[in-house]
Amino acid sequence: MTENIFEKIIKKEIPADIIYEDDLVLAFNDISPQAPTHILVIPKKNIPKLSDSKNEDKDLLGTLLLTAKKIAKDNNINNYRLVINNGSEAGQTVFHLHIHILAGRDFGWPPG
Ligand code: 5GP
Repeated sequence: MTENIFEKIIKKEIPADIIYEDDLVLAFNDISPQAPTHILVIPKKNIPKLSDSKNEDKDLLGTLLLTAKKIAKDNNINNYRLVINNGSEAGQTVFHLHIHILAGRDFGWPPG
């Protein structure tokens, strides 16, 4: 299977502006930011989309959320929106699970 762009970023085959990294998780700035802060938090494990995750991924999914919270706190961001697009009709374009952290402007509801 061909590697998608996030797998190449994990392997450092292409550059990214990395915000946070540990054994399980990588976070980097979005290349096309939709808000003043737009960070992507991804697992290093290859899970194409949230609906592909399994019960065994429970700890990893919790770790992703806690990492998003930590990144926000470490950057003094108190108000933010987390987004997971699941599937192309929901707006997913890169098929490696990721959480968007968006902050720095007002957000409408319902989302577009
Ligand atoms: P999705 O639409 O799948 O929820 O989000 C994918 C995100 O990945 C988009 O916001 C897009 O701008 C970002 N993205 C796509 N290619 C790259 C890349 O090569 N580097 C970085 N840093 N972000 C990317």
